[in-house]
Amino acid sequence: KGPDPDLVAIAERLATVKHKILVLSGKGGVGKSTFSAQLSYALAAMDFQVGLLDIDICGPSIPKMLGLEGQDIHQSNLGWSPVYVESNLGVMSIGFMLPDPDDAVIWRGPRKNGLIKQFLKDVYWGELDFLVVDAPPGTSDEHISIVQFLQATGIDGAIIVTTPQQVSLIDVRKEVSFCKKVGVPILGVVENMSGLSQPLTDFRFMKMTETGEHTDVTEAFLEFMKTEAPERVDLIAFTEIFDSSAGGAAKMCREMNVPFLGKVPMDPQLCKAAEEGRSCFTDKKCGVSAPALKSIIEKL
Ligand code: ADP
Repeated sequence: KGPDPDLVAIAERLATVKHKILVLSGKGGVGKSTFSAQLSYALAAMDFQVGLLDIDICGPSIPKMLGLEGQDIHQSNLGWSPVYVESNLGVMSIGFMLPDPDDAVIWRGPRKNGLIKQFLKDVYWGELDFLVVDAPPGTSDEHISIVQFLQATGIDGAIIVTTPQQVSLIDVRKEVSFCKKVGVPILGVVENMSGLSQPLTDFRFMKMTETGEHTDVTEAFLEFMKTEAPERVDLIAFTEIFDSSAGGAAKMCREMNVPFLGKVPMDPQLCKAAEEGRSCFTDKKCGVSAPALKSIIEKL
């Protein structure tokens, strides 16, 4: 039996891509797509030629996070053309292809695999320094296919995104074992939503009555701060949201002997950047999360 013609086609197609990075998570909603999007923006800002491929079939959020909602992809004689945010940042998402995004949720494995395979085979990226692949959450059959397809041309490694609490970390352990089993190097683990961090002046301050109603006393409180402790008004308030008393992702990484890349706090400005489809590093820079993301990306 000769080599699988699909794998040969994928290898040929991706031969012009220097580095392939897979972004994984054990659960949904931990910030995997947000990280993939911001990583792509950061690499593009460093003047690399970047492709972002979203194969999260059941929840393709990349078009929105890159400000490309409602865009169509075009086919040329070279293949499907990605949608470009900048000349050096191209995006391809299952979201661009689904007439009704609700459809794919009920697809079975083989149909999803078929689509992923088609994506890897038929998208024309041209020369790329980096291809960032935003995978679906978990370790399903799709993941085995993705890894198998990408390994046809060599894969640099995976970044695993998690939140700090144990219910999320349990699934990350499975993700780490999966990578080890299928031979994908782990570039590291990112702990996202590691506490909420934001300037004091961005909070609303509430007084709760005995009946549980909240009265907004922000103005009075900030006025008080400005007169009584003006040097404290620029403080950043921080609180843990998820329980990390068990040591969070850093401890898990030490135990499993994989690199820990760092923590990104929950930052309302980052959520806004994702909603508005923009980079957190430029423009309305996300004060608390951008430096954390930058230091993580520099470690890669
Ligand atoms: P996943 O890809 O893991 O399902 P998403 O990247 O779609 O998760 O993130 C889920 C939601 O959480 C999105 O609305 C996103 O904007 C928000 N989010 C992700 N990370 C952060 C963060 N550090 N601070 C604030 N909001 C975040």
